[in-house]
Amino acid sequence: MNQETKDFQLVETQSLIPPRSVLVRLQPLGLGTPYRESLSSYYQRLADVHSLTPQVLARELVFADITEAAPHKTYNFEDSWRMPSFNGLAASDGRWVSRLEALTSQVGLGELTLGFLGQFISTRGLVNKRPKWCPVCLEDGSNHETPYSPLLWSFKTVTCCPKHKVNLVSSCGCPRAEWRPSGRVKCLPHVCPRCAGSLGRPDHPKATVPSPKKLMHACMVADLLVSALATQPTTQQKTLSDFLKETVQTLLKGNASKLASILGVTKSSLSGWMSGKHRPEFARILQIAELHGCAIEDVLCGRSEKARLTSLLQKEKSAGKPSRRNRGAINWKQVVAALKSELIEGTPLTLTEVATKVGVDPDTLRNREPELCSAISERWLSLRKSATRRRDLAYAGQVRMEAMRLANQGHRPSWQRLLESGLPVTPIWQWRTFVQKICDEVWEQAEASKRIA
Ligand SMILES: [Zn+2]
Ligand SMILES: [Zn+2]
Repeated sequence: MNQETKDFQLVETQSLIPPRSVLVRLQPLGLGTPYRESLSSYYQRLADVHSLTPQVLARELVFADITEAAPHKTYNFEDSWRMPSFNGLAASDGRWVSRLEALTSQVGLGELTLGFLGQFISTRGLVNKRPKWCPVCLEDGSNHETPYSPLLWSFKTVTCCPKHKVNLVSSCGCPRAEWRPSGRVKCLPHVCPRCAGSLGRPDHPKATVPSPKKLMHACMVADLLVSALATQPTTQQKTLSDFLKETVQTLLKGNASKLASILGVTKSSLSGWMSGKHRPEFARILQIAELHGCAIEDVLCGRSEKARLTSLLQKEKSAGKPSRRNRGAINWKQVVAALKSELIEGTPLTLTEVATKVGVDPDTLRNREPELCSAISERWLSLRKSATRRRDLAYAGQVRMEAMRLANQGHRPSWQRLLESGLPVTPIWQWRTFVQKICDEVWEQAEASKRIA
């Protein structure tokens, strides 16, 4: 019998069916780019593919043995994919990565966490406590491919999207009236947990243009995610402490306390990092890299030869007498007179515009003349406020007209109906509440007038 099976199998010795996995072998998205998927996003999509909630998947499959071994204990592992630390360092040494790899037969899931940073930095202040997203990225995703949340958005130091150059947002802006009961909404990276609507939209009012500094920080972190450090296991020859020791020696002539004062830390913290006893937070690493004009990877790998003397270091080096002499060169009487005339005449300007007009640095101006400066800012703010109010009033009039037209036809006006009839959406914060309120008013008036008639 045994011989027979052997002969029989000779026809086709190798099976073409790949080894079976318990769960679908879902491919992580965005690998090899700065926008690779985060583990929490992957896990939510994995659960959704099986039509399960992430909690049920965790309880029934991922950690079924924990519940079996201790049925009365309440571990919070079911919800740990929600925690900010999940994409941080904790997920890498926890069992999540290995369990998910075993269940899906998909290797390299560790890359979806920040585990590679574990040996360099302290976990404090590394990841966001609340989710943040780029509404344009999610909009792109839902139009062309699967929307997901990249690992990049998990960093607390990343506040904008380098791809679309807009600030990340943390709220959908949906009014409370539209919230669904929790548990009825799918847990997916692009779905609002409150209103179940899509978080992807091209015109989110809070997705404003970021400052150049914020954008630079986001780009630096994005570069780190595609660096060799983050993508392949490396053995470290040199570390942060070598970097600091060597740059202090070559760029600051051994004066470590100068670096400490530029970074805004105590001398003992700096010496702790230099000796390798303590690990700094990620924001500090970013600050050090920015200050030395090199990549974050260079700082972590101790490549001090890449460090340059940036303008900030130079300025701090020559701080003291020269800047004081410069301050003396300003004719303050003239400046104050110019500021006062700015307060009375012409259209209000921002403080930065006024500062360039009078030819003084805005910070210097603010230090020397705090009252005048706040008055100038106030004047500009009130102008902007009244401009927005005018814009909102004009828009409200348009909404009212349209709502009355619908009410006259016997339809109850609502924001959906107005949208269908071609009303443009403006970036008013909580637009739907704004429009719905007017609609309700118009409808009440129409009903009241009918009753009188
Ligand atoms: Zn984006
Ligand atoms: Zn929402």
